Amino acid sequence: MSGMGRKSRGKQERREAKALRLCEREKRAKEGVARGCLICRGHDGGFLSEEHPVPESLGNTEIVLPNGVVCDRCNNGVLSQLDATLQQFFPIAIQRVLKGVPSKAGKLPTARFSNGVLELSSPGNVVMNTNERKALVVDPTPLPGGYRKLKMSIAGGRRMTPTYASELSRSLLKMAIECAWLDHGEKILGPEWDHVRDAILGSKRQGYFAALRNGDPEDNQLQLQYVPQVREDGSLILAVVVRLFGLVMGTDSRNPEPLVEFDPEAAIVISF
Ligand SMILES: [Zn+2]
Repeated sequence: MSGMGRKSRGKQERREAKALRLCEREKRAKEGVARGCLICRGHDGGFLSEEHPVPESLGNTEIVLPNGVVCDRCNNGVLSQLDATLQQFFPIAIQRVLKGVPSKAGKLPTARFSNGVLELSSPGNVVMNTNERKALVVDPTPLPGGYRKLKMSIAGGRRMTPTYASELSRSLLKMAIECAWLDHGEKILGPEWDHVRDAILGSKRQGYFAALRNGDPEDNQLQLQYVPQVREDGSLILAVVVRLFGLVMGTDSRNPEPLVEFDPEAAIVISF
């Protein structure tokens, strides 16, 4: 009998905890309506969904914006498109397959390239389907966990155009502004950040996307560094460097080119 008592008390506690969570969610949603969305500044997009600054499909389960910060319309629209762009960026898509990082829905990863598909058919089992045998060279030595090292002999994936570079730049700025919110809260709603919001939403601007050509494929770290700097005229510029699966990428919110010059052998820099 005492066992049953404990059980029903546990149930009651869970019910109370759930009610409290719903209550807090409601409260955050109301705050979101009053404050406006971090990205579009609108008040009417709905504020029930939480948002991952770095997509879950890239292995982030820890850094989360609670509901009430980004509106559902942005979350399910422009932000999810930018996440998809980054997730499908060829060097990242390949690494997701090799490392077996599942999608948000728990599906095993796939990387599409210009003449085939690379997929993880079961954990540790990478399958390549391609018309051209030379597309990828598979190193026969298995790595720990049964993975094989792949060497790309041709460039794959979507062609790097200025439009594509602009989308990738926006996806990095999106991660940066959301992390800035986690660190600084409502300060990020200030007008000096509006140009970053406009950039994320796709307004026309000049900019660049840069990525180092060589990365360490064994690197599993995720690092995001954002640097907001106030310029002499009082305007703000936001620079972002992201290291994801050994790939280092960067952009900023104003300059048409990086402030440091890169050796073309060491990095690709695409201006738009
Ligand atoms: Zn919004």
